[in-house]
Amino acid sequence: MDNFIFHNPTKLIFGKKQLEKLKTEVPKYGKRILLVYGGGSIKRSGLYDQVKRILNECDTEVYELQGVEPNPRLSTVKRGIALCKDNAIDFLLAVGGGSVIDCTKAIAVGAKFDGDPWLFITRKSPVSDALPFGTVLTLAATGSEMNPNSVITNWETHEKYGWSCPYSYPAFSILDPSFTFSVPKNQTIYGMVDMMAHVFEHYFHPTEHTPLQDRLCESILQTVIDAAPKLVRNLDNYDLRETILYCGTMALNGMVSMGFNGDWASHNLEHAVSAVYDIPHGGGLAILFPNWMKYNLDVNVGRFKQMAERVFHIESEGKSDRDVALEGIEALRQFWTSIGAPSRLADYGIDDSKLNLLADRAMARGEFGQFRKLDREDAFAIYQASL
Ligand code: NAP
Ligand code: FE
Repeated sequence: MDNFIFHNPTKLIFGKKQLEKLKTEVPKYGKRILLVYGGGSIKRSGLYDQVKRILNECDTEVYELQGVEPNPRLSTVKRGIALCKDNAIDFLLAVGGGSVIDCTKAIAVGAKFDGDPWLFITRKSPVSDALPFGTVLTLAATGSEMNPNSVITNWETHEKYGWSCPYSYPAFSILDPSFTFSVPKNQTIYGMVDMMAHVFEHYFHPTEHTPLQDRLCESILQTVIDAAPKLVRNLDNYDLRETILYCGTMALNGMVSMGFNGDWASHNLEHAVSAVYDIPHGGGLAILFPNWMKYNLDVNVGRFKQMAERVFHIESEGKSDRDVALEGIEALRQFWTSIGAPSRLADYGIDDSKLNLLADRAMARGEFGQFRKLDREDAFAIYQASL
């Protein structure tokens, strides 16, 4: 494996009745708070009232940015930055899923940045500071609660990019599995696909000799594969919600990816689709990732075979390595279909009319992927196979 430094400063506060910890955490950062949330799920679940009560007890002055969209938009980031600058905000509190948290990260950095936030989102300008922020997570999926990553969409230009910086780690994140009870079935499924996709992005890397990292990745995958079918049948089961919530965080907080760089081509391909069609991230990944796997099978058949055998328990006796590997990819496709994830772009009404635009969008920052560098022709072929 490669040399590495691991440093994750986010304080993870996990479990039942942990929301009260806001009382000790928030006052450390100041009195003027920007509460950031989405389209209303936290109002319907009652979480909004609980958070407001605690913030009032902390004697804070609370400003609000509501209506952060799934696939959060640059325009909303800009609204949040203006709120921070106009009201001398000390601290941001994101209450929601990955979209709310990602948007909060861009606002926190943007509040300390002179200029258009699109410049740092597109990695054209460096950043040197951010306002501190914390999160209360309501959806198991992205790992954004314990990583510095953020994905923002410029809806005017139909571009969606991931970015990160050393200042965009949450100061703390509160994860109470019961806050995820109200996540509807489809979002629950998308979230589980997304966390598995994060593991796959790690698993398919070009670095030699990563035995522990492989096993860590495989354990997360096996744990999700075991829990997911039960959870979709029983959305109110605390233990299953807890397991999945923990898996989502572990899949993308850096714990399983020390010593190598993951691939991330499938995420790049998906971001282009979401930027043009505004589909759910996890749904797009369920469609694209198995096709990325098939397309890149011969880069390292042994790695796909290892996944097939260890994660999907495919028997290899009497079969070629390639056939075992292909069976593993098919088993993944079948698993995602069995829990209710989409498998074709047509499931979202997407046809071949904009394949060129999708390929252009995927290539906007040049060739991509670590396991294998993909060019425009590759991107086009994977989209075509996904129709
Ligand atoms: P999300 O976009 O944050 O939320 C999806 C939907 O679920 C929203 O409509 C939201 O409603 C609803 N929801 C959230 N919590 C709920 C609850 N407890 N009960 C009922 N409904 C709830 O979903 P996400 O999958 O967490 O985030 C997706 C975004 O993250 C995408 O933009 C993706 O590209 C990005 N992403 C980021 C990372 C990262 O590392 N930062 C990694 C992968 C993907 P409300 O708006 O009403 O709350
Ligand atoms: Fe993701």
